[in-house]
Amino acid sequence: MPALAADVLIWGGDALSGRFLPVHSHYRAWYPDNTLQTQAVAAPEMFYFMTETSFASFQLAAPIMQALKNAGFDKPTPIQAGALPAGLAGRDVLGTAQTGTGKTAAFALPILQAMAAAPLRPRRFAARALILSPTRELAVQIEQEFKKFGTGLGLHTVLIVGGVGRTGQVNRMSRGADIVVGTPGRVCDLLSTRELNIEQCQFFVLDEADRMLDLGFMPDIRKVVAALPTRRQSALFSATMQKEILHLAEGLLRDPVKVAIQGVSSTPVLMEQSVHFVEASGKRHLLATLLKDPSVSRAIVFTRTKRGADRVALQLSQEKISATAMHGNLAQNARQRALEAFKTGAVRVLVATDLAARGIDVAGVSHVFNYELPNEPESYVHRTGRTARNGNAGIAVAFCDATELTYLNQIEKLTGVKLAVASGTRPAHAAPVKKPQPHPNLVVRKPKRAQYGEQNNQRRPSQRAA
Ligand code: ADP
Ligand code: MG
Repeated sequence: MPALAADVLIWGGDALSGRFLPVHSHYRAWYPDNTLQTQAVAAPEMFYFMTETSFASFQLAAPIMQALKNAGFDKPTPIQAGALPAGLAGRDVLGTAQTGTGKTAAFALPILQAMAAAPLRPRRFAARALILSPTRELAVQIEQEFKKFGTGLGLHTVLIVGGVGRTGQVNRMSRGADIVVGTPGRVCDLLSTRELNIEQCQFFVLDEADRMLDLGFMPDIRKVVAALPTRRQSALFSATMQKEILHLAEGLLRDPVKVAIQGVSSTPVLMEQSVHFVEASGKRHLLATLLKDPSVSRAIVFTRTKRGADRVALQLSQEKISATAMHGNLAQNARQRALEAFKTGAVRVLVATDLAARGIDVAGVSHVFNYELPNEPESYVHRTGRTARNGNAGIAVAFCDATELTYLNQIEKLTGVKLAVASGTRPAHAAPVKKPQPHPNLVVRKPKRAQYGEQNNQRRPSQRAA
């Protein structure tokens, strides 16, 4: 390991083992002292070394620098400091960093910079850059970020997501697009009708890459990749990266620079995490009690199913707690409306399925409640990551009944954090999971198409977003 100059920042790790080596100069706010560790470097070539610690050193185009200033971005976050030099040099990047640490700008800025440097008019229906996300709401948010940092560059961005009319999207594509942000289903739809052409697409990004490469999305992703040129710059970003998925990720990248901040799947250090051991029947009362605390200024409550989200939101309303549900059975405009109401503070509590777990950036979420623990431990990292974003503190509270103990164990193993016990006692053994019996009179309306982020107690391999 080379000697460190005062201003040298070395972040990095081996995405596979999760070993990391954060050595810093400027980033104490992000990683307070006790989390700074120096560990043996297992595979030095996997580490990325860089020295830049200000946006000025990246020599970005003037309008981008101005946009960064307007957005209050004074200093790159660790993942930005680590990934931007590679991206700007035209390299492929595999980036992992905790939730809320600025991964969006880490993949957006190199694309915008390249477009600022070489303005080209895209051909009709052609896209110059394609960014895919697992949910429509996240796609909307990413497009907004591109617009924010691309102000003044005269770029044409198009959002291609399901759940809303396609005609408007096709019309917008007709004059070509610099940036297309979309969800896989609708993107494949437009590809198949040649209303989207990515044959000469130079930039390809999978945000929430591990989710995009799992079973549900993989068929669509394969179609997209087959339509892309082999000569392109690709970037994959996420806070989690399962080992089984890593080889798929690497298959999409050409000689990638791997940037891993902290351990893969680690939770933000400023997040306070605790668990209540509670019987399933006691969760409703416990949640209402905790939400009545005025320090809970803005909270997301995660449930495992869509019906569960509706039920909990209704129960909270009955307790006079301002709450709204968000899940994939709602029409797209109702989904976006629920999220907007939560963002503006019109409602204090958003009760959501995993649809809201990935990527969604709402300022000032003080608490995340896991009303039911997710059966995939990675989901815990993403759900709780809606709080403690961008160097802020946050509180994550888990409810765990006896049937969920296995999930809790998996979560603690993945994140390496043992949750503090807030109430109850940890059961010695997990109780067997009871299959929920649907009420015979209950008619369940099926959504037109399966949505990512929901499970009706089982995984549908055909899940997709649009
Ligand atoms: P991630 O994708 O890693 O979860 P985001 O890209 O959504 O994180 O960024 C989280 C928040 O931090 C956003 O509100 C974003 O505007 C803000 N942010 C990102 N980078 C910076 C920076 N360098 N300086 C200040 N704020 C930043
Ligand atoms: Mg993100």
